[in-house]
Amino acid sequence: MIAGLVEAAARETAHGELVEHLRSLLRLRTVNPPGDEILAARHLADVLVGEGLRPEVVEPEPGRGSVVARLRGDGTGGGPLLLLSHTDVVPAPQERWTHDPFGGDVADGYAWGRGAVDMKAMVAMELETILLLARAAHAVGRDPASDPVPGLRRDVIFAATADEETGGHLGAGWLVDHRPDLVRADGALNEAGGFTVELFGRRFYPIQVAEKGYLVYRIVVRGSWGHGSVPRDDNAAVLAAGVIERLALPGAQRVTPLMAEAIERVAATLPAGRGETLRHVLHRDPRVAEAAVESLCQPPLSRGLRALLRDTTSPTVVHAGVAHNVIPGCAELIVDCRILPGTDEEAMTAELRRRIGEELWARCDIEVTARGAPVEQPAAGALWDTIVAALTAHDPAAVVVPLMAPFATDAKHTVRLGIPTHGFSPLRLGPQDPFLQLFHGDDERVGLDALRFGLPVLAEVVARYCG
Ligand SMILES: [Zn+2]
Repeated sequence: MIAGLVEAAARETAHGELVEHLRSLLRLRTVNPPGDEILAARHLADVLVGEGLRPEVVEPEPGRGSVVARLRGDGTGGGPLLLLSHTDVVPAPQERWTHDPFGGDVADGYAWGRGAVDMKAMVAMELETILLLARAAHAVGRDPASDPVPGLRRDVIFAATADEETGGHLGAGWLVDHRPDLVRADGALNEAGGFTVELFGRRFYPIQVAEKGYLVYRIVVRGSWGHGSVPRDDNAAVLAAGVIERLALPGAQRVTPLMAEAIERVAATLPAGRGETLRHVLHRDPRVAEAAVESLCQPPLSRGLRALLRDTTSPTVVHAGVAHNVIPGCAELIVDCRILPGTDEEAMTAELRRRIGEELWARCDIEVTARGAPVEQPAAGALWDTIVAALTAHDPAAVVVPLMAPFATDAKHTVRLGIPTHGFSPLRLGPQDPFLQLFHGDDERVGLDALRFGLPVLAEVVARYCG
């Protein structure tokens, strides 16, 4: 029954519904901060109630809502599958956009809006999958709020959560800590993978199994106050510039086992010569490795790969000075550090000290203001195998590779419950489709054809894993 969850004849109808759900979500201003995800939680709950489900909305702080709904299987297939997403988005400066970031426009083959790729498209795909399952129960006279869905051997949980963009502590993290009964599962599908990356004529689909951790440092550089007319060496703005310059240099490369595996899988599929060049990424000589990274010939990919091969330090906020004629006696820096699996806070702080140097370090007061641990899971297991099988059934040329995300996702919360969590929001992109640069970027949009491919693939993963 559910194997044909999205039969060809019904696909266009389901796709049309999916696009309308996505547009409704894009019109909700769930910008974090402050969040207001309760708008999305209540909206989604209404849609789910309309299909006969009994969703639960949780709101740990006013406005910070998440919604969870469960479809029942007969329990003979194992623990639940969690369809996880977040409904919050980052701000969108309207003046840099060609479409209203909260208008839900559809134009030129795309749905436009803040959150189109990060990650309301996946919210809508997961929602549509749940709705199709609920209707499969209705079709045989069952109540989807309580009866097993025909053909489902595991429960399927839908969780659209708050607060991912600022750490997830009021969303997925809160559910894991306070309501694990709602989300405990044998596997989870989440963002950060499943989209096409074309490279030298091959179509790769990275699936996230790992992610870097983060440490946010606040560094206060101490100098001396003085009159602007008389320059002095311990001007805190000048000292801070020295700190920034040293932190902005790329650190030493370190290849984690997962990255070595990913590079080898890609290299083995590339045309001869190209593959050999890519393998040089693993070379001991940093100049040879850097030339191999450069050989990808796509600057966004090269930048992403560089970030995945080292702990990174990005100075992101700089404050100094009170008036044009006053030499500042202190300056404040915020440094966004992203750490590989295997690097901890002590090691990162030691690295900052080494790079800043003892003389400047003595002038710095340092504190960590936010932290999240790295995640690394094997590219293996029942859910991984299911994803590979479903993807290659829909795109026989697909080459699936394990991915480490350079950024953080809610996976760092779900793995605390031991839930294997894969970044898999299936979207078939064309070679010219912008994508990676649209995350948090201007004119964020998702291709309608990408969604037309994605929904049946997602539905098939659910059907295969839970059927
Ligand atoms: Zn996201």
